[in-house]
Amino acid sequence: MSDTQTCFYCTDEYKGYMKEICKLEVSTVYLNNEQEYLGRCTVVLNDHKTELFQLEEELRGKYMRDVARVAAALKQEFAADKMNYAVYGDIDSHLHFHVVPKHKHSKNWGWPFELTAGEGNEKFLTNEEYQSIIERIVQHLR
Ligand SMILES: [Zn+2]
Repeated sequence: MSDTQTCFYCTDEYKGYMKEICKLEVSTVYLNNEQEYLGRCTVVLNDHKTELFQLEEELRGKYMRDVARVAAALKQEFAADKMNYAVYGDIDSHLHFHVVPKHKHSKNWGWPFELTAGEGNEKFLTNEEYQSIIERIVQHLR
């Protein structure tokens, strides 16, 4: 099987973990179902690439612009004190940025946010709450 046939993002597997917010120039923005950090999003490159250095300069520039747009939207909408970004990909190697609003005096301030809240500590919302957050974010991205 090719990499894309087993890829978390190229297949529908991701749909159990996040909801699409919108498409940007070269990426798609998703709201993570787990919302311990309110507004947490993932910005996924539309092409299946696994390393930033594999992208031609123009595509990398567009992707960084998309990530920056999302970060600016989240910072404004959720009054974040600082935006955090994470790119790992050991397991799901398709390029994606975790973009996470952080607040002083809140969990993990001064430390990396945790990718998973841990069993029983996850914060899941109702469909209406997810839709409300998606609308709050997308108004900054139009
Ligand atoms: Zn992929």
